[in-house]
Amino acid sequence: MKIQCKNCLPKEGIEVPDFNEPEKQKLSELKIQSPILAMKYIVDYYKLSQRDAKYITTHINKIHDRCNRCAYDKLGGEYVECPRCGSLNFNWQTDAKTLHTR
Ligand SMILES: [Zn+2]
Ligand SMILES: [Zn+2]
Repeated sequence: MKIQCKNCLPKEGIEVPDFNEPEKQKLSELKIQSPILAMKYIVDYYKLSQRDAKYITTHINKIHDRCNRCAYDKLGGEYVECPRCGSLNFNWQTDAKTLHTR
């Protein structure tokens, strides 16, 4: 799946794997714990470049429905552009994020 964020390079966006639910859960946990771990995991398990791994990690939001960049909190959808700042968010609904919110 091709994704794009107008605030990030490369401008043309990148290709991301179709993550399944357990993978979304795992990546959300890692991102909340440590973005560096999440990046390393993506490079090791999905054989992606550092650049793509960083792009993905950056866009996983820590709190469901909330934009990582400007904290707008009514995103909705899974791969969404924030209506306020235009940033892309991987707005996966996972337990990791729910727990983090509490
Ligand atoms: Zn971005
Ligand atoms: Zn935003």
